[in-house]
Amino acid sequence: MKDEIILRFIDVSKIYSGNWVALSNITFEVRQGEFLFLIGPSGAGKTTLLKTIYLAEFPDTGKLWFLGFSSDNITEKDIPYIRRRIGIVFQDFKLLEYKTAYENIEIPLIVRGVRRKERRERTMAILCELGLVEKACLFPHQLSGGEKQRVAIGRALANSPVLLLADEPTGNLDPVTSEEIMDILVKINRRGTAVIMATHNMNIVEERGGRKLVLEKGRIVADIKG
Ligand code: ADP
Repeated sequence: MKDEIILRFIDVSKIYSGNWVALSNITFEVRQGEFLFLIGPSGAGKTTLLKTIYLAEFPDTGKLWFLGFSSDNITEKDIPYIRRRIGIVFQDFKLLEYKTAYENIEIPLIVRGVRRKERRERTMAILCELGLVEKACLFPHQLSGGEKQRVAIGRALANSPVLLLADEPTGNLDPVTSEEIMDILVKINRRGTAVIMATHNMNIVEERGGRKLVLEKGRIVADIKG
């Protein structure tokens, strides 16, 4: 249901070794279908915040709630299920170099145990949607930066996530290609997937609507409605 809260941070703090406070008393909510920019200078805590969402890090104090799961009482077996509801895109793409574009997108479906026919249909639909059909059999080193990021987005979408996390997705791309990737993220969002995108590229943020959560030294200093 639109407007339903899917993610909630409740007073979350994360302290790395050496007593470095990466997140400090973070409280906010994300609703279904929302587009949220996470902005702030390098070192502000953006990546750490995204990592706590996909459970690569856990809060030291406070908790986060995602689709009925609370970080303070999830079990090991819940984690794959939760991660399947989240797609992730990184600045450096993180594609498997020895797999083709097609195979990279198909991987999450194999992991989930989807049958061959359905895998093929889903992977082809994604390749088609992202304009990658002609590149299906190419390996990452044969693709441009923008194409690699489109493959990474395709992989993130394979399991139809409720939430897409993007950590500096345009960080390695030229301005024109960055806009293409932004257009794709906006299109995905319009179809109902919530997107949280961390970036320090203010040109992109200023040109686009959407809510902006501003982080500084691990604290939310502004939550600007789009
Ligand atoms: P951003 O994504 O905004 O650049 P990060 O979340 O990567 O910020 O980092 C926030 C702060 O936490 C930085 O000062 C960084 O050095 C520190 N940090 C990040 N990861 C670790 C880690 N695994 N161990 C110790 N400190 C870390």
